[in-house]
Amino acid sequence: MIRIPLILSLILSAATANLPMTPADQFDLVITNARIVDGTGNPWFRGSIAIKEGRIARVGHFDETNAKQTIDAHGQIVAPGFIDVHVHTEDIYSNPKAENFIRMGVTSLITGNCGGSELDIKEFLGRVKTKPLAVNLGTLIGHNTVRSKAMGLDNREPTPDEQAKMDALVEQAMKDGAVGFSTGLIYLPGTYAKTGEVLELAKVAAKYNGIYASHIRNEEGHVVEAITEAINIGEQAHMPVEVSHFKISSKRLWGQSQTTLGLVRAARNRGVTVTVDQYAYTASSTSLDSRMPSWALAGGRKEGRKRVADPTTRAKIVEEMKKELNDRGFKDYSYANVASYDADPKFNGKNIKEITKLARGKDKLNDQIDQILEMYDKGGASMVYHSMSEDDVKNIMREPFTMIASDSGVRELGVGMPHPRGYGDNARVLGHYVRELNLIPLEDAIRKMTSLPAQTFGLRDRGLIREGFAADLVIFDEGKIIDKATFDAPHQYAEGVSTVIVNGETVYSDGKMTGAMSGHALYGPGLNK
Ligand SMILES: [Zn+2]
Repeated sequence: MIRIPLILSLILSAATANLPMTPADQFDLVITNARIVDGTGNPWFRGSIAIKEGRIARVGHFDETNAKQTIDAHGQIVAPGFIDVHVHTEDIYSNPKAENFIRMGVTSLITGNCGGSELDIKEFLGRVKTKPLAVNLGTLIGHNTVRSKAMGLDNREPTPDEQAKMDALVEQAMKDGAVGFSTGLIYLPGTYAKTGEVLELAKVAAKYNGIYASHIRNEEGHVVEAITEAINIGEQAHMPVEVSHFKISSKRLWGQSQTTLGLVRAARNRGVTVTVDQYAYTASSTSLDSRMPSWALAGGRKEGRKRVADPTTRAKIVEEMKKELNDRGFKDYSYANVASYDADPKFNGKNIKEITKLARGKDKLNDQIDQILEMYDKGGASMVYHSMSEDDVKNIMREPFTMIASDSGVRELGVGMPHPRGYGDNARVLGHYVRELNLIPLEDAIRKMTSLPAQTFGLRDRGLIREGFAADLVIFDEGKIIDKATFDAPHQYAEGVSTVIVNGETVYSDGKMTGAMSGHALYGPGLNK
């Protein structure tokens, strides 16, 4: 050890104190005149934020003058960039600006939800180095993805060999940096899996401290059993559970959200980490195929077509579809709107009842089912289902363990008729539910978009405005922020966000993308373990 004589060290420190800051001490960027909402849920405070080398260097009051660049926030809100933990952006590298997300303040995405992900996580996340993105990207490993790889679309239990193969695929994905394991138990082929198969795979992810995120087996008449199954899996695998896009989508069960939220509260009371996410709309979005019984879809569309063509099997399909509709409390399919139907895009934006009238000149329930089966035969469609109640959406949003997530993909302006949530979700919560309805405080809404998702998905240096944290920031006017996208005209960016910063670089300001592509890959806790 080199000992510096006391007197010399006093001289040295005195000298340093008097020196002007060198360029090396200079901040890259300082945001002044901010009302800082730091992501904890605490009330906003006035201050400045300094950024250096992609990280937050100072927060509060300090000498702001030594900065290469300054942004005057003019008293607007500055919050951590929003983290959307439920997206479907496997195709993000073909649309790397992710402008629909950025323009509502989202700076980090977790994809691979509902059981569908890339299989090679190392390659997928690593690609950001050669194909830069404007947002940060993390992923789950999907059950349907590994099951398809191991055993195709078969409607049966896995053999021990197939289960071992799936276990190994999940294990590799966790080592490659997946943040957890996702299921989509209404989709093929996950819907054919029994709880034991899912539990075994969840346990593999748990070894690497991953989360279990589930699109549960049923969001309608059997929603209670489905939530219970998800919670049991987390409890038995000793891992946190995220119930994805938490909702009540059976008209008969409208108003029952207190019961379903109660299941989560009860689990938490006995010490199980359970959280949920939600999009702020009363309509959901999924495939047309999901209206048909899952056994009819086994083996893929080629096999399904044979069943639809066989009169006896077809009659059984029709009967089950009628029962499902009735169980859910709907008289017909007017609640089901086509978002995009490749075989005939003029159906886009219309509901099944309207389409049936157009195509067949009549629109009785039997005609509507014939129309659905014909559209299945011609390749299927993506749909928007108006099936939830506003009161349930509000109940779920008020709950402290609910985070805000869009369930959207990357959107290309003008392409298809997607659910508006991909353009508006966060802005809708802040503009409609916070400002217009006063449902929850601004700071709490921001907590649900920042520190809660970061904590839940293990993003240790994001989601808060804290020195040392990644400099992902959004600046917005809380009097103006609002969603503009509607079901009829979804391709409209949110308004009110003025600046978005990702890892210290401004990716959006003054109404346009800057071209900066500063997104990072977000790796899970099992990386290289
Ligand atoms: Zn889903």
